[in-house]
Amino acid sequence: MVSDMKTSLRPKNIEQQIAQVKADLARLGPLHPGSLSRQYNVCGKPGCRCKDPKNPRRHGPYHQLNYVYGGKKTSEFVRPQNLKQVRTQLANYKRFRRLIDQWIGLALKQARSEIQK
Ligand SMILES: [Zn+2]
Repeated sequence: MVSDMKTSLRPKNIEQQIAQVKADLARLGPLHPGSLSRQYNVCGKPGCRCKDPKNPRRHGPYHQLNYVYGGKKTSEFVRPQNLKQVRTQLANYKRFRRLIDQWIGLALKQARSEIQK
């Protein structure tokens, strides 16, 4: 059973690794590109705390989601009750990009090994 041992010690072949990446991609939940930032605003109301001459306290934080899609920059406010969901979507997007990079890396490796055959 020497040959079997050899096989088990070898890392998974490239086809198997690509299949794993595809399976991980298929399982990926809702995703969203971009990043969150915090904004503090000044309103227009006279005598408001944000206009206090001695100790101005601006309103916020408001969470803003910034992203680029199709060369177009977009930013939108995120309601506090949606923050958790948006953070999950952003994390899924990062995972998505990592998996794509992995797939490309494996595809390159595969292309090189095909040429060597
Ligand atoms: Zn104000």
